[in-house]
Amino acid sequence: MKFANIIVDISLEKLDRTFQYRVPEELQGILKEGMQVRIPFGNGGRTLTGYVLELTDTCEWDEKKLKPILGLAEKGIRLEGQLIALAAWMRRTYGSTMNQALKTVLPVKKSVQEKISRKVRLAVTREEAEAALAEMERKHQTARVRIIKALLEQTVQDMDYAAAQKELGLTAATARKLMELGLIRIESDTIFRNPVRPSEVQAHPFTLYPAQQAIVEDVAARAAAGDLRPSLIHGVTGSGKTEVYMELIAAVLEQGKEAVVLIPEIALTFQTVLRFYRRFGDQVSIIHSKLSAGERYDQFERARRGEVKVMIGPRSALFTPFPRLGVIVIDEEHEGSYKSENAPRYHAREAAIERARMCGAFVVLGSATPSVDSYERTKEGLYRLYELPLRVENRAMPETEVVDLREELRMGNRSIFSARLKELMEDRLRKGEQIMLFLNRRGYAGFVSCRACGHVIKCPHCDVSLSLHHGGRMVCHYCGYQTVQPKKCPSCGSAYIGAFRAGTQQVAEAAAKTFPGARILRMDFDTTRQKGGYERILEAFSKKQADILVGTQMIVKGHDFPGVTLVGALAADLSLYAGDYRAAERTFQLLVQAAGRAGRGTTPGTAVIQTYSPDHYSIETAADQDYKAFFEKEMAFRRMMNYPPAAHLMALYLMSEDEEALNRGAVRLKALAMSHTRQEIALIGPSDAGLSKLKDVYRKVLYLKCTEMNYLTEWKGWLEAVLPKEKQLSTFNIQFDMDPVNPF
Ligand code: ADP
Ligand code: ZN
Ligand code: ZN
Repeated sequence: MKFANIIVDISLEKLDRTFQYRVPEELQGILKEGMQVRIPFGNGGRTLTGYVLELTDTCEWDEKKLKPILGLAEKGIRLEGQLIALAAWMRRTYGSTMNQALKTVLPVKKSVQEKISRKVRLAVTREEAEAALAEMERKHQTARVRIIKALLEQTVQDMDYAAAQKELGLTAATARKLMELGLIRIESDTIFRNPVRPSEVQAHPFTLYPAQQAIVEDVAARAAAGDLRPSLIHGVTGSGKTEVYMELIAAVLEQGKEAVVLIPEIALTFQTVLRFYRRFGDQVSIIHSKLSAGERYDQFERARRGEVKVMIGPRSALFTPFPRLGVIVIDEEHEGSYKSENAPRYHAREAAIERARMCGAFVVLGSATPSVDSYERTKEGLYRLYELPLRVENRAMPETEVVDLREELRMGNRSIFSARLKELMEDRLRKGEQIMLFLNRRGYAGFVSCRACGHVIKCPHCDVSLSLHHGGRMVCHYCGYQTVQPKKCPSCGSAYIGAFRAGTQQVAEAAAKTFPGARILRMDFDTTRQKGGYERILEAFSKKQADILVGTQMIVKGHDFPGVTLVGALAADLSLYAGDYRAAERTFQLLVQAAGRAGRGTTPGTAVIQTYSPDHYSIETAADQDYKAFFEKEMAFRRMMNYPPAAHLMALYLMSEDEEALNRGAVRLKALAMSHTRQEIALIGPSDAGLSKLKDVYRKVLYLKCTEMNYLTEWKGWLEAVLPKEKQLSTFNIQFDMDPVNPF
């Protein structure tokens, strides 16, 4: 590599500003991305240090005028350098501008002063607060009464300090007095400040069971021997994975190193976090989406300074600037939320493995339903597989029943609830036990299926279901194949064929009608849009203020309700026919997870799966909780159709407000693509995206499929280089998505 693009200042907002220098002879082969170098700068003979962002053979300026790098600023790669190299890797692998990639990995300090939102919270139990309230009422301390009452009743949402000032007339004096009395506290950082007192930190954690101990020892021994292949722990929910993670982390901390724990945002519950605090005390910190950019920056600074040793959080916690990172744990590694939906659309698992490689850390993945991708890699020997097939103390697994909705129709039952589900619901309501009902909605448009025989209309080329659009047009979101909606089922001739749509609101209404008197809560986009709405519904349900919780798949992820003994998946077909190649995998994961939600307390639970496709392998294997059987079937499908992980699929998302220009551009792009495509690469599309218009922006997709990832990244690099010269294509936005996980 003859040239280096160098960034001089990473604290500025102008991260895109790079300067090109010549790589001198003596640094050839030595210089790496992320290294800090000394460079001559400007004409005044100044010397600055900068980071190597990229090494390239392309000269962007006049080669004769390029100055050479003077030398290395220091040996090896410093922390910032590592993160910069990671950004460069992300840009190369997933496609984005360098600026976008750098902003993803480096928390850029904002120069503007942020408004910090403060929260008022009770610092005592409800009972204590109520007692204090009675006392204050007796003394006619009306200002204080107003605040405590509001806190008890949550009449001011989440009790924002500013809102309390405005709506309840909270004054600084009242706030101070209440704090002195120990009744309230005021927090600037929201929910996850260390809730554990030092005395509560566990001095002696559990003794691990032999199966857990064996994993800990093997992973540690391999890491010590320099075998840094990722470990995948496949263990059912409640099999003791979290205890294994904590033991591994403890060992890493003992060596003076740090740990990152990734958890999907939705599973980042108080309970989970509390366990880590109990074990590691003040060394733990959390980041989550409710932190402001400034708060996040502060958390990262604490990590850099060594005040924090264990960072827990969703995807972005991966970029915690720990100087001696020893382990990265990724819990629920199959979750789609680990794939970023903004450029660079990186997968946290892949990025974690790359970061770990750079600093000699090891990666531990865990799941009850591993992604097909990770499991396949254990078969290839790229990851090491560990299994925990039993629940701790052999607690019972839930029973799963599959209900064939075609039969229900034959019996004349057209309700949302099958006879069996209805019977079980009545039983649970009578016993005062709780029920969860969910619709696994995924994808955007509905699909077309036959209620009589369960036949689903699919693309003849891609083997994914067609999506129904306006006017009865059915579209394949991969190749663009279109056809009109048939009047009769092509398989059985029944006229009961049509769009499959259902919403949580209809379910809640049907439940209210079928079970008068039952207390019903609904959790979906509508009811959680308000700030704190999500937490409030979960809390109400866990306090048994409702009998039935209706929702989308979000209710079966990550939350434990010991009172729930029945879970109903109302229409498994909804996610099964979402129209993308991961639909069966997602369905299997959801159904297994949902079943895991039934009966986590002492009473064994039951899960009911309602479906028109009871013979689909995804449903059959989920009902049997048989991951391996599912994996074999699913991999056979991926191999046959050349979908990841059997091959790589790169999506190009094309977006424009001008539909005409987009259509023309897509055609032009395809022609351009064909001009450069080697024969190993298959070009598919262009097609409308699953969500073909969003906020007035039209969206199309073009796919490239190839067994060699390198060819695709090469091709991407080529396109990125020619795009600026293509007038017709410069008018709209193009984003890359390597091995897409979530429907676009
Ligand atoms: P998972 O992460 O696989 O869902 P957990 O680690 O949460 O499993 O374990 C499930 C339950 O069993 C937890 O309540 C945990 O405290 C308990 N548990 C796990 N390992 C042990 C152990 N070695 N001794 C006692 N209890 C354990
Ligand atoms: Zn039919
Ligand atoms: Zn198709």
